[in-house]
Amino acid sequence: MAEPLHIVCPHCHTTNRVRQDDLVKVPNCGNCHKTLFAGHPVALGGDAFDRHISRNQIPVLVDFWAPWCGPCLQMAPAYAHVAAQLEPAFRVVKVDTEASPALGTRFNIRSIPTLALFINGREVARQAGAMGAADIVRWAKFHAL
Ligand code: ZN
Repeated sequence: MAEPLHIVCPHCHTTNRVRQDDLVKVPNCGNCHKTLFAGHPVALGGDAFDRHISRNQIPVLVDFWAPWCGPCLQMAPAYAHVAAQLEPAFRVVKVDTEASPALGTRFNIRSIPTLALFINGREVARQAGAMGAADIVRWAKFHAL
C-alpha cells in the first residue's frame, strides 16, 4: 500500500497527510476544513510559497507572472484550465513577481511569463513564454515523470 502523501493546504498552508487513493476524492484540509483542491491556481508569495514547494509531495507547477504583462494576462484563462486538469496529481500555483519581487530575484526570473516545475523542493524544469493549456499540461506531465 502506497505511503500517504503530504499535501499543503492552499488556504491555511497546513501540511496534510492524504492517502493516495483518497486524492481523487478531493479531500478537505484537516485544519481549516476547506477543500485541498479547488480547481484553480493558488496565488502564493513569500513563506507560503516556500512551504508549498518544499513540503508538497506532489509536483508543484508555478507560473511567475505580473499584472502589467500582456502575455501573462492572456495566458491566465488557459492556466486556470490547466489547474482543473492537473489537480490532484499536481499543485498549480501562481506567483505575482510584482507583489513578490524577492521570489522573482531568488529564482532568477528573467522574463515573464515563466513556468517552473518543482518536485520535492527542487526545480526540475523551466519554460519561458506563454503557452496554451494543452501545451502546459503536456509539458508539466512530461517533466514530472
Ligand atoms: Zn487548510
